[in-house]
Amino acid sequence: MITFEEAQAIAFQSLEALGTEMIPFDSALYRVLAENIITKEFFPPFDKSAMDGYACRKEDLSEPMEVIETIPAGTKPIYSIGKNQCAKIMTGAMIPDGADTVIIKEKVQIWDENHIIFNDVFSSTNICYKGEDAEEGEVMLVKGTKLEAQHLAVLATLGQIRIMVYKLPRIGVLVTGSELVEPHETLRDTQIRNSNAYSILNQLKQERFHATYYGIVSDQYQLTTDQLLHSIKNNEVLIMSGAVSVGDFDFVPQILKENGFEILFHGLHMKPGKRLLFAKKDKKWVIGLPGNPVSTFVQMQEFAIPFLYKLMGCIALKPPIFLSLDHVLERKNGDKKEFIPVQINASGKVNKVAYNGSGNIQALIAADGLMEFPMGKNRLEENERVRFISF
Ligand code: AMP
Ligand code: MG
Repeated sequence: MITFEEAQAIAFQSLEALGTEMIPFDSALYRVLAENIITKEFFPPFDKSAMDGYACRKEDLSEPMEVIETIPAGTKPIYSIGKNQCAKIMTGAMIPDGADTVIIKEKVQIWDENHIIFNDVFSSTNICYKGEDAEEGEVMLVKGTKLEAQHLAVLATLGQIRIMVYKLPRIGVLVTGSELVEPHETLRDTQIRNSNAYSILNQLKQERFHATYYGIVSDQYQLTTDQLLHSIKNNEVLIMSGAVSVGDFDFVPQILKENGFEILFHGLHMKPGKRLLFAKKDKKWVIGLPGNPVSTFVQMQEFAIPFLYKLMGCIALKPPIFLSLDHVLERKNGDKKEFIPVQINASGKVNKVAYNGSGNIQALIAADGLMEFPMGKNRLEENERVRFISF
């Protein structure tokens, strides 16, 4: 048995790069950049007005000024601004030569037909200067960045329409269990519906991974062997649920060993999901999730998704978020890292929700996320800061 952190370190050490590809920037949501993006221009590319108002000279602000033209956004100014002159200017328009400030429309009075006067105290120039956001040659996005909407907006700003990203891992999903039927099938006694396939596939979908689903395999040695090998054949990663524990029919660890996989760990000080299994052969990885639905869900979120991002070359995982605990929490044994479904209440603190253990997937409905009960502790105080993981 190892700690969750040790398990994660072992998994990350086993990584091998998947290669890169060029793709259009606007289909790159949640992909990981495989190159540094360097600006080839200045941003903004010219001095531009930050407000609707009048471009003029600061030294003329106490006197009436003649309005010599109107400059819409996207239009080049015709005149330069001389003494006691100004140009009506729109937000985003180019600052005319000679002007060093923009006074806002709301702080100006009409003096006569073509003159205005400033009626406030000067406070700011209201100019966005050329290059103030980024200069030519600056590294704007670093290799290894997971691309979200704000990064795609920056790529659009730079005109970087094709980018190099790491390839997506090909992922297979296979669930084990002779008691399982698919949701559309009729339940006989002794059976339950397969829910893990649908949490796994949709947790992957939420992160925009693609996966192939290989269905349910019953707990028979040869069938499981055949279906496991078939499910990993065209994929780099196989995510499985069930059959990794110590029951008589939990064949997955043995099948992996007999087929040349190295089991890098099997079992960690964590709840739920302590029998998590991780194996590798050549450039193929198997994640064996314990079958209880909350275990599967939590290990997908905590272990599998971060692993997949690392496999794609991501350099930074999500930073931790800490919230205050609403009430004292105690447990008998502090020998593991534990994840507990919680709600965020009206005062922004976390509350435990009703939860019967790792089979109780329904408990997640009332929860906003999970909180971590750290290993080594068996009591957490009211208002103590705890790590919160949102769904
Ligand atoms: P296992 O890890 O195979 O020993 O399964 C542990 C528990 O999770 C058992 O009660 C199983 O019936 C249940 N379980 C296993 N796989 C699934 C699944 N795909 N969907 C729902 N429950 C499952
Ligand atoms: Mg099972």
